[in-house]
Amino acid sequence: MKTMLKGIAASDGVACGRVYRLDEPDLHVSQQTITDLDYELNRFRQALEATVSEIETIKTRVNKNLGADRAQVFIAQMAMLKDRDLIGNIEHQMQDRHVNAEFAVSLVSATVEDELAALADNPYLQERLTNWRAVAKRLTAHLLGVTLPDLALVSEPVIVVTHDLIASEAVAANPQQVLGFITDAGGRTSHSSILARSLNIPAVVGTQAATHELTNGELVVVNGTQGNVMVGPTTEEVATARQTMAQRVKNQRKLEKLKHFETVSRDGVGVTLAANMGTVADLPRVVASGAEAIGLFRTEFLYLDAQHLPTEDEQFEIYRRVLEKMRPRPVVIRTLDVGGDKNLPYRTSQSEANPFMGARAIRQSLAHQQVFRSQLRALIRASAFGQLKIMFPMIATLDELRQAKAIYDDERAKLTAKRVPMGEIAVGMMVEVPAAALLADRFANEVDFMSIGTNDLIGYTLAADRTNQNVAYLYQPYHPAILRLIDRVISAGHAAGIPVAMCGEMAGDPIALPLLLGMGLDEFSMAPGTILKTRQLIRQLDAHELASLAETTVNSAGTSQEVITMVQAAVPNVLK
Ligand code: PEP
Ligand code: MG
Repeated sequence: MKTMLKGIAASDGVACGRVYRLDEPDLHVSQQTITDLDYELNRFRQALEATVSEIETIKTRVNKNLGADRAQVFIAQMAMLKDRDLIGNIEHQMQDRHVNAEFAVSLVSATVEDELAALADNPYLQERLTNWRAVAKRLTAHLLGVTLPDLALVSEPVIVVTHDLIASEAVAANPQQVLGFITDAGGRTSHSSILARSLNIPAVVGTQAATHELTNGELVVVNGTQGNVMVGPTTEEVATARQTMAQRVKNQRKLEKLKHFETVSRDGVGVTLAANMGTVADLPRVVASGAEAIGLFRTEFLYLDAQHLPTEDEQFEIYRRVLEKMRPRPVVIRTLDVGGDKNLPYRTSQSEANPFMGARAIRQSLAHQQVFRSQLRALIRASAFGQLKIMFPMIATLDELRQAKAIYDDERAKLTAKRVPMGEIAVGMMVEVPAAALLADRFANEVDFMSIGTNDLIGYTLAADRTNQNVAYLYQPYHPAILRLIDRVISAGHAAGIPVAMCGEMAGDPIALPLLLGMGLDEFSMAPGTILKTRQLIRQLDAHELASLAETTVNSAGTSQEVITMVQAAVPNVLK
């Protein structure tokens, strides 16, 4: 190989393929005075034609690969490029001001932004604004003679390289097209990494240098298990990588026999193994995964994958589909958790210096009650079709929990008055803010279940941003402080007689598993691809023996490394 890039192992597996750079080129435009207006108008019209034909190609491919629903947006975008008012306006700017075409596009864009941004509550206009931004960008790229990447434009599967994959891009990725991800930035629990894991796409993030080192078309081997990338591998290295990929498929097949087995430890302690789910596209994988429940449905991905805020009815249909498909198994649906590294592309939000500690999750829901109420109504209506559990994210105070529950009760009462059919619904909360973990005994009296969100709990406890590769060394799941918080939440839940789950990535971590089982965690919710491996491990472990390991570790360990050593010494045969 030419070189090796090191990064963070974000999604297991090995993939070999050619690089496709997804980062945007510089689209900065400057004003120029035009003397030959005909030439400039002609240049503009050619760019317009090229843009229309490119969007047409994207639309056809998206239609074929992802379905007509996903292609709709491109029809709207093409209509904009044929809108005589908009296009005529750009031409007028060029004629009246004698400015270059790209600058005229930027002038019209500024006007469109001003007009539509003022009407932020109108979903139709917000969708129009999002579409206009996409169209204007593509048109500008053609005028500047640069290429705006789009996965729909590649004709064979590729390894995507980008500075930082944003959640809305990852959510739109198609595993048939994307063999692997490599990024400069991000962490193992960035939402794009979580999505890569749920799609079973190998990923290495936080390499710091991928976009400097890698060029379009270059051959690479991504090792998402070890967290490295071979650049320019030799024929033998490619062959070895292919063997590893084949072996992985074989191992996964072997695990299939555990699909219908119970999840019980060697000494007969039963726990629930549940799947985390992002988009509805995950549903077949979840159903096939051997999961006994859905422990976390991150509904924000429905919102991220759309062009506008999904309506109550659109949501109802999706929740109903998931509940029906899983029935009689329970489904935990979490209310919207936007903010942090998940911003809705079509909703103008204030930029925050510290978004993970800003207006995120339940804070946004309580501030924008219309959106929250419509989601709750969709959920309550869908509850007639399966076993629904509603969960509120990022609760930090009892006041927040009480407010959220009061709004839920209010919507439920209104639907009851209208005789809308509904089922029994459990209402719970995520414990992912240290304040809630420390006060878990008080929270436990006011909810039907708690689910520990270690992805955020670790970040907030160690003050290490989960998406920042520079502090990835501090983002330590086995830190004794984290174990103490988890232990405390489980004990508090059990003292109040409610079940405690974990839906952060730590639930599927083999080193954490013996400790969590020993602490008495009731439900482990994880990426569908990890379920059978975890079931296999649990069936080899003795929960009673592990209770004392957990107690000793929680009470005496001082560092993450001590914890790892203690676990490995206690169950050497299981964690080979
Ligand atoms: C968590 O924080 O652990 C969690 C499950 O939620 P998310 O990863 O979506 O923030
Ligand atoms: Mg979280």
